[in-house]
Amino acid sequence: MENYDLIVVGGGFSGIASAISASRQGIKVLLVEKFNSLGGAATNSLVNPFMPNFTYINNKKVDFSSGIFKEIIKKLKERNALLWDNHFLEEELKYILNEMMLENNVDLLFHAYLTRVNRENDEIKAITLATIDGEITLSAKYYIDATGDGQLSFLSGCDYILGRESDKLTQPMTLCFRVGNVDTDKFYKTLDKVQREYEKAQKTGEITNPRENILVFSTPIKNVLHFNTTRVVKHNPTNAYKKTKAEIIARKQVHEMYDFLKKHADGMENSFLVSTAQEIGVRESRKIIGEYILTERDLLSCTKFDDGVVACNYDLDVHNPEGSGTSHHYFKEGKYYTIPYRAFIPKGIRNMLISGRCISSSQGAQASFRIMPAVTSIGEATGTAIGIIVNDSLDDVRNVDINKLQKILKESYLKNS
Ligand SMILES: Cc1cc2nc3c(=O)[nH]c(=O)nc-3n(C[C@H](O)[C@H](O)[C@H](O)COP(=O)(O)OP(=O)(O)OC[C@H]3O[C@@H](n4cnc5c(N)ncnc54)[C@H](O)[C@@H]3O)c2cc1C
Repeated sequence: MENYDLIVVGGGFSGIASAISASRQGIKVLLVEKFNSLGGAATNSLVNPFMPNFTYINNKKVDFSSGIFKEIIKKLKERNALLWDNHFLEEELKYILNEMMLENNVDLLFHAYLTRVNRENDEIKAITLATIDGEITLSAKYYIDATGDGQLSFLSGCDYILGRESDKLTQPMTLCFRVGNVDTDKFYKTLDKVQREYEKAQKTGEITNPRENILVFSTPIKNVLHFNTTRVVKHNPTNAYKKTKAEIIARKQVHEMYDFLKKHADGMENSFLVSTAQEIGVRESRKIIGEYILTERDLLSCTKFDDGVVACNYDLDVHNPEGSGTSHHYFKEGKYYTIPYRAFIPKGIRNMLISGRCISSSQGAQASFRIMPAVTSIGEATGTAIGIIVNDSLDDVRNVDINKLQKILKESYLKNS
């Protein structure tokens, strides 16, 4: 068995960036993933496209995406798998990410589901994974929880925030789906009319989906449309039974919507339902309590933290946890906030960091930084931090040299600008 310096659990955008950046610091890294490919929500839940994370300062475009995110964009472009700079082909993405792991000497373990953690006081000693070989137990000096759901932290006994403060409701879950062989020109010409029909159908009960409108995107594949439009509310994504129920409700919504489109939308005459995601998309679940809890107020006041290691300015995009409606707060030109390193440090543990959409934050804050470009930056920051910690022989994630971390991240950013 390898002696790993770091085990990253979860192969979404955050986990892959953690693993690559840590390995680039020369440490031995294993990335564990429950499915057979990398990309997380982008591939498991068919989430597309990349949301924007840039602004203009003194008329100059400033893109906050980290170095590794830009490397992925470049590779997607090289493989002709990116349209309009942000719509991507997930099958190409899966391949690109595998190859990046190999190029960066990251070991991979697929089909491995984290089920148990052995924690003693402030230290994680080992983790147990359910695999084709039965249960296996692995240990490393450090761990990163990039499971999106904060699964590693939860199994380690960490406290977490679920949903909004008032009633613990999380943002809705969405099962994305694709429709093929659509005459897209015809479809878009009459989409406004179809949106009005949709509102009527909600009133008559033909449509049970509470979402306010049909959310549809073009894709890099001719005549294929991407629908991010189902909405399951008031179902706790961290409860196995509720998540199962959510999958069933969402699938019903997919078919209801497809039947509705066939009936009311132009260009759908010869279409067919091509695919649904293999897992319902979870926008928000556990947010692990860390040394600092990033709040909506921090974002609205564009706070720049001394230990800020990620910059972001995406909309505070809250899909109503109860039903219809989506609230927004768009940042004015030139405005952005940073995320402090302390939001990655789970309370009470010395050898683990949290990465991605489950970092220490309130619902409103997470509604902004959860986008793929920003969670990749978080991953690059957590992985680089563990690299520094191991190389500097530190024994607590709290002791990382922040200046050194910021310098390495900046170098990676500039190298890829
Ligand atoms: C419906 C929906 C629409 C969205 N729309 C957009 C959009 O248009 N643009 C955008 O930029 N962002 C969008 N987002 C947000 C974005 O996709 C996610 O927040 C982001 O991808 C999360 O990345 P992550 O790496 O933190 O977690 P994830 O992508 O969730 O990755 C976590 C990984 O951990 C693995 N894992 C989980 N538990 C275990 C376990 N116990 N053992 C082993 N492995 C495990 C999972 O299989 C997964 O691969 C959307 C999200 C959803 C759900």
